[in-house]
Amino acid sequence: MLPAPVSRFPRIPIDCRSSSSSSFNIPRVHFIRGEKLLRDVSTWGIGGPCKYFVQVLDQHQLLTAVRHCNEQSMRYIVIGKGSNCLFDDLGFDGCIIQNNIVFLERIQPGFYRAGSGYPINRLALLTANEGFMGLEFAGGIPGTVGAAAYMNAGANGQETADAVESVEIITSEGQRMILRRSDLDFRYRWSSFQGMNNLAAITAVTFQLKLSKSAKKNQQEYLERRKCTQPLGDRSAGSVFRNPPETGFSAAQLIERAGLKGCRVGGAIISSKHANFFINSGGATSCDMLELIGLAKDAVYRQFDVKLKEEILYIPP
Ligand SMILES: Cc1cc2nc3c(=O)[nH]c(=O)nc-3n(C[C@H](O)[C@H](O)[C@H](O)COP(=O)(O)OP(=O)(O)OC[C@H]3O[C@@H](n4cnc5c(N)ncnc54)[C@H](O)[C@@H]3O)c2cc1C
Repeated sequence: MLPAPVSRFPRIPIDCRSSSSSSFNIPRVHFIRGEKLLRDVSTWGIGGPCKYFVQVLDQHQLLTAVRHCNEQSMRYIVIGKGSNCLFDDLGFDGCIIQNNIVFLERIQPGFYRAGSGYPINRLALLTANEGFMGLEFAGGIPGTVGAAAYMNAGANGQETADAVESVEIITSEGQRMILRRSDLDFRYRWSSFQGMNNLAAITAVTFQLKLSKSAKKNQQEYLERRKCTQPLGDRSAGSVFRNPPETGFSAAQLIERAGLKGCRVGGAIISSKHANFFINSGGATSCDMLELIGLAKDAVYRQFDVKLKEEILYIPP
């Protein structure tokens, strides 16, 4: 089963009577109508046009965009770099809010408060260079701080949750809240944010890191390992499936053992370097990718009786 549709609001048709031009402004926020292709905001390079697209640079703009979507009863999704999303060829019949809230504060040694649009890989390199451990794993993750908390991104035995001190959010009612680590639940690639009905967006995350002499060296090793084992030059969304812990095998090992490396549907290919990375080799459609995902799931289930679950998020139109 693919994850449940990301839908925080009912699908009510948007009233476009006032939209004689292709886009419109509400104070300090610019909505682009019908022109933005989601393939341009996803690392997979897949996805058709969204009804509305808006980029937000600070918390006020985010709040304004969310309020506007609410007033219009318009579905919306807040995204970062689109490095974990599979958008549909039909696009998205709502508003995509691209989070570009990029700031960084050093509160005290080891405490970093980052805007949720800050690149997690940049923060990881910076903190390891400054001699702090906790985010070394994120050196090669092409996403944002907010999504890293939302997804509880992780690698090499570390995960975002271990480094989180607090998370600032706005709710769909427009309320701002600070949630402490003890208020939050994190599991493998899951956070309590994924189950929150009234979450509009994470706006900032404060990390608490520990002094370490080996952080930089460990990070370099992790980055080297990524280069050797992952097809970093290709268009992907990282690991397609979660690892099934009960089996003792990774999803990549199971897919490889099922003989699927190099398997292709249209422009979508299972990487021959890392079997859990599915590549857009050029012109792949969401249908190609979904079919390839289904094919891998079926093969692994038939051969090993293991039901793989997606880590990537499919965003239905
Ligand atoms: C080459 C490559 C390597 C990767 N390696 C790893 C890895 O080692 N470990 C790992 O865990 N992942 C990895 N990934 C997957 C991906 O980068 C991470 O899941 C990352 O955290 C997603 O960040 P993003 O900003 O691109 O999120 P998006 O794909 O834009 O969004 C992902 C989800 O988060 C939600 N979201 C985004 N921002 C916010 C916000 N501010 N508030 C609330 N919700 C939000 C979105 O609505 C969506 O549901 C890799 C991907 C690639 C392409």
